[in-house]
Amino acid sequence: MFSYRHAFHAGSHADILKHFTLIHLVEYLQEKPGALTLIDTHAGAGIYSLKDGYATVSKEADGGIFRLLKYIESCKQSGTPIAASIEHYLNCIQAENTTEELTSYPGSPFILASLLRPQDRLKLFELHPTEIDILRHNVNELKQSKQIDIYAEDSFARLKGLLPPPSRRGLVLIDPSYEDKQDYRYLENAMEEGLHRFATGCYAIWYPVLSRRESTALPDRMKKIAAAHKRSWLHTELRTENAPGERRLQASGMFIINPPWTLEKHLAQALPFLVKALGIDGGAQFLLKSFEA
Ligand code: SAM
Repeated sequence: MFSYRHAFHAGSHADILKHFTLIHLVEYLQEKPGALTLIDTHAGAGIYSLKDGYATVSKEADGGIFRLLKYIESCKQSGTPIAASIEHYLNCIQAENTTEELTSYPGSPFILASLLRPQDRLKLFELHPTEIDILRHNVNELKQSKQIDIYAEDSFARLKGLLPPPSRRGLVLIDPSYEDKQDYRYLENAMEEGLHRFATGCYAIWYPVLSRRESTALPDRMKKIAAAHKRSWLHTELRTENAPGERRLQASGMFIINPPWTLEKHLAQALPFLVKALGIDGGAQFLLKSFEA
């Protein structure tokens, strides 16, 4: 159960899709001045070194953030336009680094913390006994303790207790490791309960695109839940390769319930660029679908 450490995956293509989407969701919601509650149900350690530790073993950032940076450099040299949204995402990542060279990759807690306005609140859940200590230490360094609560608890069990947030405006990022197959079922329950209590909340679910039955079924299960609650949705996937076997993660997806109307256009502009930047073989592609309730 506790073998997953996100440091192995920090800065991967999957993190890029997830965090690129996340930044837009928060910034859209912040167009209104009302207080926001941001809930990160699966926080991880908060920020990761790309220069030592697990990230240097897995080298997933080589196929993610470092590959994207190389591609951007080649675009600059050839005069190829770069979508402003991609530059904005990179600025958010760069802002968590003190040197021009990228040595750290911020996870969702740090990205969300960097976007907080004084009226917003951030709730982080982490269950791993080591990750929670690292998360607490890292978040402590941010000196935003008044705005950030950390829970060493099972978020699938606790989420409903935080919904609806006092301001009735909120975003829930659900990013399980899915190392436990039961996570797929827990996710469905959490979404059913979440929408029952807080139907207007924005829910962003990340998932790995794998051949296992639970993974291929996930988008349809989410569509059914959204339909039962008469909610709009957006579904996107980014595939960087289509090679036999599943030695490494080749694609991942985001399923957003109650997406902002701007999200589809935002992704439509960025995804072709990301496919070119991160694509490894001819199987690289994206998917983008939505439904308005
Ligand atoms: N959201 C992070 C990011 O984007 O930087 C990455 C999170 S990682 C994919 C998933 C994390 O969830 C792991 O650190 C794992 O220990 C934690 N976790 C697993 N099951 C959990 C649960 N039921 N409640 C809270 N945290 C859990």
